[in-house]
Amino acid sequence: DLHNALEDLKGRIRVYLRVRPMNEKEKTAHEVCCERSGQTGVVVKRPDRKPPQDRQHFEFDRVFAGEAAQDAVFADVKALVLSCVDGFNVCIFAYGQSGSGKTYTMAGGGGPVRDAVDLESWAVAASAGVIPRSCVEIFRVLDERAALNSYEVELSMYELYRDALRDLLADRKDKKPLSVKLAQHTRDGLAAVEGGVCRQAKSLEELVALLDKGLEQRAVAHTELNAESSRSHLLVSIVLTSTNRRSGKKTRGKLMLVDLAGSERVEKSGVQGDELKEAASINKSLSAIGDVIAALSQKSKHVPYRNHPLTMLMSDSIGGTAKTLMIVNASPSSEHASETANSLTFGSRCK
Ligand code: ADP
Ligand code: MG
Repeated sequence: DLHNALEDLKGRIRVYLRVRPMNEKEKTAHEVCCERSGQTGVVVKRPDRKPPQDRQHFEFDRVFAGEAAQDAVFADVKALVLSCVDGFNVCIFAYGQSGSGKTYTMAGGGGPVRDAVDLESWAVAASAGVIPRSCVEIFRVLDERAALNSYEVELSMYELYRDALRDLLADRKDKKPLSVKLAQHTRDGLAAVEGGVCRQAKSLEELVALLDKGLEQRAVAHTELNAESSRSHLLVSIVLTSTNRRSGKKTRGKLMLVDLAGSERVEKSGVQGDELKEAASINKSLSAIGDVIAALSQKSKHVPYRNHPLTMLMSDSIGGTAKTLMIVNASPSSEHASETANSLTFGSRCK
C-alpha cells in the first residue's frame, strides 16, 4: 500500500552511472578504462595499479554508456521528475569530476535553454538535458490536468561557491556578488533561503526565460570573477502547487536539479593559496552530501543536514519521503581512471 511504498522510499537513493563518449583527443591518445559488466555493472581498469587491484567492479541502479542519448536518459528519469506534480519532493543531482558530462546531462549541449526548447511545439533539441526536458514535461502534465487543477510554478536558482550563496534570480543592480545569508529557513515545509528570490512562471515560456536569466547572471559573475563554472554548485528548484478546482485541496511538490562542482581531487603539490582553499571547500561540501546519505542509509536518527549550506538547501529533497537520484558522470578515458574510480566509489556507496 501507499504507506509501505513510502517507507520503502525512505532514505533510498537511486544511483545511475553515465559514462560519456570519448572525445577526439582522447580517442587518439588514450584507451577506454570503463567496461560494462552485465546490465548494471561496470569495471574500471586502472593503469596506475598492479593486478589484481587494477580492475575494480561497481554496481549501479542503471548504467548509460558511450552514445546513450539524452532522450534515452530522460526516458528513465521522466516518471521520477513528474512525481513532483503529485506532491513529491524530487532531487536529481549530477556528481563527477570536471569534464565528465554533468552539465551536459543536466542542462545539455550548450547555449541558452530557449534554443533547446521549441516554444510552439514543445519539442526539445536532441542535445537538451534533464533541466529543459523536465520543464517541458511538467508543463505538458499541468496542461493536461488544467481542467481539474489550477497550478502555480515557482522557480529559484542559486549558485554555491565556497560557502557563499549567490541568488541567480535576484536583480543585480550593482556589481557586487549577491551573497544571500543562508538561514535554516522553511517556507510551507520546504527548505528555503531567507530573502531568496522565488519567481512565478505562468507558462513554459516564462520558465525558460527565467532559467536563461539565471544562467546568464551566473556566466556574467564568472567572467567578472574569472572563475570556472565547474568549481561551483548550481541548484535549480521548481516548486509546484496545484489546487483542485472542486475541493480546493492543495498539493505541493518540489523538483530540485543540481549540477555539482567537479569532484576531482586536487594534487596538493603544485596548487597553493586560493586554489587549494577552493578545492578544500568543494571537498567539504561533497563529503557533506556523502555523510547525509550515509546517515540515511544507516537509518541514523541524526542526519547531518546542517553541517553544510549545500545539504541544508537539499534537506527537503534527500531522505524522508523525497525521491533522490544521483547521476554519477564519468570520463571513459584511461587518463582519468583514478578519478573515475573515485567517483564510482562515492556513487556506489550511496546506493
Ligand atoms: P562537466 O560539467 O562535468 O564539467 P561537461 O558536461 O561540460 O562536463 O562535458 C564536457 C564535454 O564533453 C562537453 O564538451 C560536453 O559537450 C561533452 N559531453 C559530455 N557528455 C557527453 C555525452 N554524453 N555525449 C556527447 N558529449 C558529451
Ligand atoms: Mg559543468
